[in-house]
Amino acid sequence: MSGVIIGVESTAHTFSFGLVTEDGEPRKSYSALYRPEEGGIHPREAADHHSNLASQLISRLMEEQNIVSNDVKAIAYSQGPGLGPCLRIGANVSRALSDQWKIPLVGVNHCVAHIEIGRNQTGCIDPVLLYVSGGNTQVIARAGNRYQVLGETLDIGIGNMLDKFARTQGLAFPGGPKIEQLAREWHENNPEANVDLVELPYSVQGMDLNFSGLLNAAIQKVNEGFELGAVCWSLQEHAFSACIEVAERALAHSGKSELLLGGGVACNERIREMTRIMCEQRGSVGTWPEKQYCIDNGTMIAELGRRMLETNNSTNLASSGINPSLRTDHTVVTWD
Ligand code: AMP
Ligand code: MG
Repeated sequence: MSGVIIGVESTAHTFSFGLVTEDGEPRKSYSALYRPEEGGIHPREAADHHSNLASQLISRLMEEQNIVSNDVKAIAYSQGPGLGPCLRIGANVSRALSDQWKIPLVGVNHCVAHIEIGRNQTGCIDPVLLYVSGGNTQVIARAGNRYQVLGETLDIGIGNMLDKFARTQGLAFPGGPKIEQLAREWHENNPEANVDLVELPYSVQGMDLNFSGLLNAAIQKVNEGFELGAVCWSLQEHAFSACIEVAERALAHSGKSELLLGGGVACNERIREMTRIMCEQRGSVGTWPEKQYCIDNGTMIAELGRRMLETNNSTNLASSGINPSLRTDHTVVTWD
């Protein structure tokens, strides 16, 4: 086997180790999901969760993938954006492994990693990325040597909004898949339904989005007696249409012809269907990686680390600190 690059992801709920070979062939990630007992994510509890599982996850990866330390050529980790206490665990583990194995350390931008694993998996070349995850909602495209943010949420991430709505209805974290199921079942029984049936605000502002108003309005609709399935369906229709509208405008403005989905919400079949329809209508290509590479995963961090190393872009100890508010366009793109 050629050498491998290990990637460590710890921006929020997910703690994950993954790897790619030096030729860019990804392997599965070894992940653990912190699930709060109640309420939203508690950063220090999530960090404890990650810290407790570090050695177990890395040992499983090495054993099941038949890897010895000599095979590992570099270790990449999410430097940001994310929750400080969680990021710090991933960075510390990575520094320790880099020191122990005497291999380069590569701090990577989590949002950019979603693009690079998507390019690796789908073969798209110069896409607009619609990045829809728990904490982030951004429309991103490359301009020169940066990935620019063309539009984004002005308040909470779309996944966060879905999880919060689910929580108010007694549905456990993560709420997105359960909302998808309730919406699908309801719509199968009500195929003629129109979105005006459960009126919700539409949340596009120019190229930006917001989801708090939509969240509160959806909760209100349930309180008014609307069926939960109907509200879930309308909530998805509104939130996803808003994202697709901004993504379409980004395609038009940038002149690009590929739309790539990434982030956990990109697992949703309805947002994939909307992407397919919009792209067909404008002669563009809509594409997405398989689900294990949509949600946060260590493999995507390894893949971006690999691309950076190709251009000798590693991270020395002095600049290996985390950056919870790292911006997508902060990172200089040195690779093709
Ligand atoms: P990430 O932050 O990228 O790891 O993604 C996690 C987020 O994706 C959570 O907010 C989940 O609720 C959401 N999610 C996962 N699967 C789905 C799905 N099938 N539909 C909608 N949201 C989803
Ligand atoms: Mg993510």
